[in-house]
Amino acid sequence: MKEGILSPDHRESDGENFSETRPQYLRDFIGQFKLKSNLDVFIRAAKSRSQAIDHTIFYGPPGLGKTTLAQIIAREMGVGFKATSGPMIAKAGDLAALLTNLQANDVLFIDEIHRLNPLIEEVLYPAMEDFKLDLIIGEGPAARSIRIDLPRFTLVGATTRSGLLTSPLRDRFGIQMRLDFYDYQDLETIINRNALILSAEISHEGAWEIARRSRGTPRIACRMLRRVWDFAVIKGVGKIDKDIADHALTSLEVDNLGLDMMDRRYLRCIADFYNGGPVGVETLSAVLSEQRDAIEEVIEPFLLQQGLVQRTSRGRVITDQGYKSLGITRPEPIRDNAAPFV
Ligand code: ADP
Repeated sequence: MKEGILSPDHRESDGENFSETRPQYLRDFIGQFKLKSNLDVFIRAAKSRSQAIDHTIFYGPPGLGKTTLAQIIAREMGVGFKATSGPMIAKAGDLAALLTNLQANDVLFIDEIHRLNPLIEEVLYPAMEDFKLDLIIGEGPAARSIRIDLPRFTLVGATTRSGLLTSPLRDRFGIQMRLDFYDYQDLETIINRNALILSAEISHEGAWEIARRSRGTPRIACRMLRRVWDFAVIKGVGKIDKDIADHALTSLEVDNLGLDMMDRRYLRCIADFYNGGPVGVETLSAVLSEQRDAIEEVIEPFLLQQGLVQRTSRGRVITDQGYKSLGITRPEPIRDNAAPFV
């Protein structure tokens, strides 16, 4: 699993849940312009009808703002917010406890919804569609089924793996939205906003340097800003500029493209051991001692988006750009059946 500063996964030390850096309203949420303007319409329409907004699902790699948007929906709608995640709901009773505690129009956020147990999914369908909960009480011949009415609520799901969502579940979300990696401009705005909140002075070049190296991911950009600010404080520099950002990120082994040790190990593995590919993800997982999920959810999306690797039906292949990022040239292809020289 990616553990360095470039891990897009949430860590307690990020302080996201407590800090005021998490955008509270849609107007504070930077980037994702199209998604934001559509969501604004859906929220305003639901509010004008005094109804709960339709069930909503956000797709996209970790750290792009799915949880933030779920919270924003609740705040903009002026309703309560409860959060859980797919693997945390072990039994139908856990889901029942969550659902029966909701107030009318509340938002229930389920992160990693693709990891829901299939039996729980079955219980969720009538809850989403008819706002009814069917529960089996007791066991064997004495078992009986009871039906509980639920308040109308909004289920907001988030997943890093749209492909793993079952189609009956996917179809029950009226609003489906995909988050993309952020461009440097938007990341710079996010960094400047956070620097202001942290009272850290930062130059345009300093913010740009962090933006450029944060894998298109706001969570990473926010974390890098904190670490660069630490370096600036210890070095006695009052302001974050390009030099201190570069020095700090290089010390943290984040390269010029924003790739870290794990990205380079992954690329090196395809380049050195498999002659550039194709190589299957299972093989990569075994060789790198990384879980397949971590490779597909965390490492690959950014490398694919940057065009450093390609996914083909026969496996992963490193591109010319990928070789360039490693500072090596593509070896000549091995030609077994080369035409005889005449
Ligand atoms: P996800 O749920 O997709 O993993 P989060 O919603 O938890 O991501 O966001 C991760 C961090 O990045 C949070 O601290 C959040 O404040 C910040 N963030 C994400 N998107 C934005 C954005 N568009 N503007 C400002 N900050 C953002």
